Amino acid sequence: MSAGLVEGRMALVTGAAQGIGLAVARTLHQHGAAVAVADLDGERAAKAAAELATDGGPAVLPVACDVTDEQSVADAVERVQRELGGLDVLVNNAGITRDASLRRMRAEDFDAVINVHLRGTWLGVRAGAEVMREAGRGSIVNISSLSGKSGNPGQTNYSAAKAGIVGLTKAAAKELAHRGVRVNAVQPGLIRTAMTEAMPPEVFAEREAAIPMRRAGEPSEVAGAVLFLASDLSSYMTGAVLEVGGGRLM
Ligand code: NDP
Repeated sequence: MSAGLVEGRMALVTGAAQGIGLAVARTLHQHGAAVAVADLDGERAAKAAAELATDGGPAVLPVACDVTDEQSVADAVERVQRELGGLDVLVNNAGITRDASLRRMRAEDFDAVINVHLRGTWLGVRAGAEVMREAGRGSIVNISSLSGKSGNPGQTNYSAAKAGIVGLTKAAAKELAHRGVRVNAVQPGLIRTAMTEAMPPEVFAEREAAIPMRRAGEPSEVAGAVLFLASDLSSYMTGAVLEVGGGRLM
């Protein structure tokens, strides 16, 4: 990849203290963007931001943000505008899982997952789009999942939320295209992060064996697709869903 694909842009990544979000923030920063590292836990966001800033380069801003909270999302976007100077790229990445079979899943587990993924992404898209449509440019990338395409047993909540993010992405893309704002989604497959490390090792191995490329992906490999969608390399793409799954479920 060549350097500087998002040179001079201002980016906000949610759920960026670890995993895919941190890899996305690092990749955008390495390619020239000033980056706001937002996460539920402000201290962890600050730690991650300090780690990114050791590489030098553009500004890195830690932001405490709960994506389920309307005011918190509005405050984060406002801070990014004020302290980084604008908002060109928004990556709605924050996520949780509350897996259980349909018989065992509690309504609270359903609500919690829908809240973080679907409501959180919607709040982000709405707040980010408001700034971007005024500027006449911007790229929003929503992190869905292949679970939203295929449905995963034990994840009726998560699969529903991730499929919902696809519908949200396409509807928002249609509303915002004429204002110069693009909205796309990425559907990662099995990626090696804390979220998947929580899986029983035999389940992880079974899932890995079913992938045509015969391995789980790394967070940096999802970040590459996000960088592409954030940059002008994808200038004629909106409402698209990129699968990053090593060939799984093609
Ligand atoms: P991680 O659990 O490693 O990271 C998720 C981050 O989001 C954590 O830092 C978490 O904070 C934060 N977060 C949780 N709730 C909120 C909230 N309400 N507001 C702000 N931040 C919050 O997950 P991954 O990196 O694996 O996943 C990132 C995204 O990619 C998620 O949307 C996930 O669904 C998606 N994805 C992941 C796949 C995988 O295989 N790993 C596959 C497909 C999609 P805390 O730790 O404090 O809860």
